[in-house]
Amino acid sequence: MSDLTTLTITDALKGLESKDFSAVELTQAHIDAMATAKNLNAYITETPEIALEQAKASDARRAGGGAKLLDGIPLAIKDLFCTRGVQTTAASKILEGFVPTYESTVTSNLFEDGAVMLGKTNMDEFAMGSANTTSHFGNVINPWTREGDDTPLVPGGSSGGSAAAVAARIAMGATGTDTGGSIRQPASLTGIVGIKPTYGRCSRWGAVAFASSLDHPGSFGRTVEDAALILQSMSGHDPKDATSAKQDVPDFAAAASGYIKGMKIGIPDEYRIDGMPEEIEKLWQQGIEWIKEAGAEPVKISLPHTKYALPAYYIIAPAEASSNLSRYDGVRYGLRVEGESLDDMYALTRAEGFGDEVKRRIMIGTYVLSAGYYDAYYIKAQKVRRVILNDFVEAFKQCDAILTPTAPSSAFAIGENEDDPIKMYLNDVFTVTGNLAGLPGISIPGGVDAQGLPLGLQITGRVWDEETVIKIAANIERAANFTALPQTLAKAAA
Ligand code: GLN
Repeated sequence: MSDLTTLTITDALKGLESKDFSAVELTQAHIDAMATAKNLNAYITETPEIALEQAKASDARRAGGGAKLLDGIPLAIKDLFCTRGVQTTAASKILEGFVPTYESTVTSNLFEDGAVMLGKTNMDEFAMGSANTTSHFGNVINPWTREGDDTPLVPGGSSGGSAAAVAARIAMGATGTDTGGSIRQPASLTGIVGIKPTYGRCSRWGAVAFASSLDHPGSFGRTVEDAALILQSMSGHDPKDATSAKQDVPDFAAAASGYIKGMKIGIPDEYRIDGMPEEIEKLWQQGIEWIKEAGAEPVKISLPHTKYALPAYYIIAPAEASSNLSRYDGVRYGLRVEGESLDDMYALTRAEGFGDEVKRRIMIGTYVLSAGYYDAYYIKAQKVRRVILNDFVEAFKQCDAILTPTAPSSAFAIGENEDDPIKMYLNDVFTVTGNLAGLPGISIPGGVDAQGLPLGLQITGRVWDEETVIKIAANIERAANFTALPQTLAKAAA
């Protein structure tokens, strides 16, 4: 771990500006670090040549006085974002070898702001999972391990490669997507910050679709300010995405230095679930103390329909996925397995190209959308979604934002929770409500559990009010002063 890879983005930008180092040096330090962390399997495709070329261009821009928001900052891009001329797989065999001829809006915004792409990160196949164990390209390993125990742990999912890369200091920040928790949950399990903005804040154009009404692009960083800075660059109206909103993008990074005195922060009773480890409850109480010390007032709120969120999600998300994934038919993209007839070719391609979890979702989605069951399942789930949104609307009459734990556990071992899909689905119990309601949310590391593993706290805010979410998170960040390092890095630093 070189000094350059331990910097925050904010400090790296200062260093670049004062010529302490160049973007090429900063990028090279990360490329070197990537070579020593291959065991994490965080990247599906590394793009060192592109990175160095972009870094060179960035140095030239800075020398000419035209440096932009993220100029020269090496980032990792979730392999769900299409990148022109660079393989984009969504971690699926069916897209192996697919090289887009276009750039997603999110990545093009980042490149426009001078960001450097180190590579495309591993993830759960089509973003379906909570442990990064469904990728066609193998599991991602969390750089954190339990004290005195080398058992490989999951980084969370589905943006597990992005989270692991940022935690392991082989990227300064990263993009992710969050459909049910896929940014916030891996951020919690790897001890970093992850933000999911309001639905419509970041364009989905050029991001491989999982469940269109729930998919939210967002960012990872090692500090609230870093994650906010990346999000700022990614955000903005895009005429190419009909659900992208015409909203001005505030200075998210500036919000990280804001105060929260006088704010009311909701604490929902319904998030105290059976079987939640005591340490998570303790951290939640600690979080409440921290916001009180910062001058905010905790208020009890009720989100009575929380328990219906996961069941509704597991109808709506597969329904949308089954429709979105119908385009992978062996004709237009990626894999094709020839058959005796056209129908045969479709069937053989999809049978071989999709993994088990993706097939499970397609079957559930097709079932709940079928003529006989549409009203009973899909329409019902849509009604539940509305009721969950109404819970939040009511709650936000009494508070400015909501504080909860991010995930019901710390990182678990690869293979754990695999016997029963429902167990895996429970990982998103605290995050999925924010996707159903389209609200901005963030996870910030609050501390470690008895095994030395990070635990996250989540702030959820009103629509379009990322700034309040960022402010509260930054205040908790200052109070928590989370400095623990993944064991592998701690050893190297010692
Ligand atoms: N774990 C959830 C799922 O498998 C959410 C994934 C996501 O947010 N992309 O659907």
